[in-house]
Amino acid sequence: MNDVVLTGDRPTGPLHLGHYFGSLANRVELQGRYPMYVLVADYQVITDRDTPGEIRRNTTELVLDYLAVGIDPARAVIFQHSAIPELNQLLLPFLSLVSVAELQRNPTVKDEIAHSSQRAVSGLMFTYPVHQAADILFCKGTLVPVGKDQLPHVEVTRLVARRFNERYGPVFPLPQALMGEQPLLKGLDGGKMSKSRGNAIALSATEDETAALIRKARTDSDRHITFDEERRPEVANLLTLAGLCLGRSPRELAEEIGDRGAAELKRVTTEAVNEFLRPIRKRRAELDEGDVRRILAEGNERARERAVRTLEEVRQAMGF
Ligand code: ATP
Ligand code: MG
Repeated sequence: MNDVVLTGDRPTGPLHLGHYFGSLANRVELQGRYPMYVLVADYQVITDRDTPGEIRRNTTELVLDYLAVGIDPARAVIFQHSAIPELNQLLLPFLSLVSVAELQRNPTVKDEIAHSSQRAVSGLMFTYPVHQAADILFCKGTLVPVGKDQLPHVEVTRLVARRFNERYGPVFPLPQALMGEQPLLKGLDGGKMSKSRGNAIALSATEDETAALIRKARTDSDRHITFDEERRPEVANLLTLAGLCLGRSPRELAEEIGDRGAAELKRVTTEAVNEFLRPIRKRRAELDEGDVRRILAEGNERARERAVRTLEEVRQAMGF
């Protein structure tokens, strides 16, 4: 079977280091080896907020982040949910394949509801994992580079694909999740680093912003630095960040820092992150909104062609 890569992000704010080590690095690594689709999941912005907000600006920023980390539009189709009606139409048959109980059991949905500031939980909150099945299956995606929070959703996609094939004949492959070097990077508050939880280091952050964020990060009162994720999560978190950016083990870094304490740990981490982000910032500064519009227009056209073919196949299989 020929593998196809599908992955994406919500345009809800700037991409951060969690995205990089959870998913973006894998995408850059896989592009060119397989056909690759990268989705700007704009319709999913309204799962946990009332309106799409500054959707146009956030979309531009998201695509600039992609280009800055090295996703190459010549080798990856970058496209938007809202531009592909045929993809969205797959949601309807797919919803018929899962039960309400299955939707309610999803642990990532539960976690997101717990962190949502919305007063009422929308129906989309429960059904968006099935929408993600449409994202993955519209292009018959088989490899899905994602972070750990996405594993339950890839399971839903496999369930949808399996049930569709059982009921209507073999149309879809069963995709698999591909986790990155750090499937769950924690933010500066110890929770999952998230765009919408105010705890992230953005890939587009300036040197000074990065330094200020790390300066504010919590540590503990033990001066001697050790790597102990259980008992010293804050210190371990900074060591992990520095280690990822330097390509070194956090334990080794802890030994080097030793008695020089939290101030030295923060200095090392700030320098590591800033060094790592330097080339990404530089590429970003060379691009503008015009580049993004061109890339999306072309990507949307290519993704749409693919979606039209899949929807036609689905209708035929179902006997419409
Ligand atoms: P939001 O808070 O708006 O939901 P997010 O930071 O969770 O934003 P998403 O757009 O929901 O980002 O996720 C995009 C991709 O990045 C997914 O594959 C997700 O698994 C991955 N990802 C997000 N945060 C992390 C993280 N902290 N560590 C590893 N991977 C992550
Ligand atoms: Mg998220």
